[in-house]
Amino acid sequence: RATRGGEEVRGYVPSMGQIFLRRFQMVTQFRQALEDGQVSVHYQPKVSLPGKQVVGVEALVRWQHPEFGRVDPDEFVPAVEAAGLVGVLTSFVLEMALDRVRRWLDEGLRISVAVNLSVRNLADEDFPAKVADALARFGVPAELLTFELTESGVMADPARALPILRELHGLGIVLAVDDFGTGYSSLAYLRQLPVDQVKIDKSFVLGMGTDLSDLAVVRSIVELGHSLGLTVVAEGVEEDVARDQLEAMGCDVAQGYLISRPLSEERLEAWLLARTA
Ligand code: C2E
Ligand code: CA
Ligand code: CA
Ligand code: CA
Repeated sequence: RATRGGEEVRGYVPSMGQIFLRRFQMVTQFRQALEDGQVSVHYQPKVSLPGKQVVGVEALVRWQHPEFGRVDPDEFVPAVEAAGLVGVLTSFVLEMALDRVRRWLDEGLRISVAVNLSVRNLADEDFPAKVADALARFGVPAELLTFELTESGVMADPARALPILRELHGLGIVLAVDDFGTGYSSLAYLRQLPVDQVKIDKSFVLGMGTDLSDLAVVRSIVELGHSLGLTVVAEGVEEDVARDQLEAMGCDVAQGYLISRPLSEERLEAWLLARTA
């Protein structure tokens, strides 16, 4: 915290050097942070429309840093990626997620889990074999695992990413294009990918109540997705009206603060119990 003569400076803006140092510290401390239990996985439920059945959860990583406090994944995931450590992050989240699904199965619950991938995962030829191994170790059927990947992640190096995606898909894993609508999305491009789902980016879903062009984008993604035989998921559902509009359009699945924020394992258990009670 910046101080001047012992007084806190208001509106303090960190310098480039300080941002760089913080990033550097995060990257060098990441592996140890995993071991020390500073990194955890929260889960955000996804529900079907109109049935409101819980169809799955998305795993979202959290870092409680001893010095910086809660660090957002939007900040540390890119740093971890740039440092070539994202394989470690993905394995960690994947194992936590599969362990969670395994324990649900033991309780007689079939809930799927979605894990976010990074571009770098799609450049690792051994990635599909690692995933197959993890599924076997936890005894989780592949169809209960979804990978979410951004369009830019695939488009960065399609020649490299495509064979890996095909292999993952061949294992029976569900593939979803995340943040759809923000990148180079086109019908032609989507048809070439072995994907099962599109997730409409939350910026459009958040804007659809007030902005007609956002509403038009959402509507056309639902239509486009369905014409390709894909499941359409909307993220960023915060309001009843948005949920109702999405339902009326035929959107298949909703995720957002209206349904639930991302929850710790413990709080998710309570949330699930309260819904089935
Ligand atoms: P994302 O994959 O697009 O995840 C959705 C983000 O939207 C999450 O932020 C979630 O908390 C937030 N969100 C959910 N519902 C709502 C809503 O109704 N309104 C609003 N305004 N926001 C909502 P979060 O958890 O901070 O994650 C940010 C990004 O960090 C993710 O975006 C994803 O790209 C990345 N990320 C998170 N966990 C992982 C991970 O395990 N691995 C990788 N590679 N990336 C991750
Ligand atoms: Ca996601
Ligand atoms: Ca997203
Ligand atoms: Ca995002």
